[in-house]
Amino acid sequence: MPLHHETPLLHSVALSARVQAPVWLKLESAQPSASFKLRGMGLAAERAVARGATRLVSSSGGNAGYAVAWAGRALGVPVTVVVPSTTGARMRGLIEATGAEVQIAGDVWDEAHAAATTLAEQTGGALLHPFDHPDIWTGHASLIAEVAQAGLTPTQVVVSVGGGGLLAGVLQGMDAAGWSEVPVLAIETHGAESFSAALAADRPVTLPAITSLALTLGSKRVCDQVFAQAKTHPVQSIVVSDASAVQACAQFLDDHRVLVEPSCGAALSVVYDQHPAVMHTAGSILVIVCGGAGVTRTQLDDWLAATRT
Ligand SMILES: *Cc1c(COP(=O)(O)O)cnc(C)c1O
Repeated sequence: MPLHHETPLLHSVALSARVQAPVWLKLESAQPSASFKLRGMGLAAERAVARGATRLVSSSGGNAGYAVAWAGRALGVPVTVVVPSTTGARMRGLIEATGAEVQIAGDVWDEAHAAATTLAEQTGGALLHPFDHPDIWTGHASLIAEVAQAGLTPTQVVVSVGGGGLLAGVLQGMDAAGWSEVPVLAIETHGAESFSAALAADRPVTLPAITSLALTLGSKRVCDQVFAQAKTHPVQSIVVSDASAVQACAQFLDDHRVLVEPSCGAALSVVYDQHPAVMHTAGSILVIVCGGAGVTRTQLDDWLAATRT
């Protein structure tokens, strides 16, 4: 049985009014781990345990680590999440509250990942990569299968891109649903635009640094898989400002009473800001509301203040 939940598919009156076309929301914020990550990490965890893993290890201090913690709890398998020192106390607390152990190693993700790799080898645990694995893409693809099952065929899909695991899964799911021709808008923030940079260079490249506050999108390089898929599927890259992403979070909270991370606000912002790419759609627009646990009311207020010009 999958560890993720089937999520609501909601027609948004507020967002539809912005673009004068039906806008549908796939509410991944309703997953128990607050993001779509439970789909991919849940499947990867299930498969690892089926292969004999007795411990799960994650190197993500964000939503991926939180999802692994949830998956381990549901499967009755101990989980260790190795996070860099920059991971906040609140996120560590959320992960620990699920029963997982949190270890701190290094100051950046790469160092935590190296420590997690060693730990997995020493303990015989399975190390689950946050975005670069076929199980992850197959798990994420299930969200598109649910939309197709509900009878909706959009004419445009809007989705955020970090390391590209979500987009890879969405494209895989779209191919399986027979939506290979449906265009996708891939949204990033300035300072985290690794997908946009890959398209411009015609190969995945490594950004020098992440300067966006949408840290969940802050992978310096996208996976090869998503770059290859973007060659055969119509995908348009759009890069928005942190201010737009954060304002979209605030507007979405008012409109739908759902609090999401700026990584998710980035996707919502192209509709709220009436980006030309969404203004003349012939049919329905599907927005993947990817969610995220790394946000509070107070934090959102701080981001709004920090990005106000
Ligand atoms: C992980 C995550 C993303 C980015 O997903 P990738 O698979 O890294 O592209 C976007 N939003 C949220 C809330 C996430 O947790």
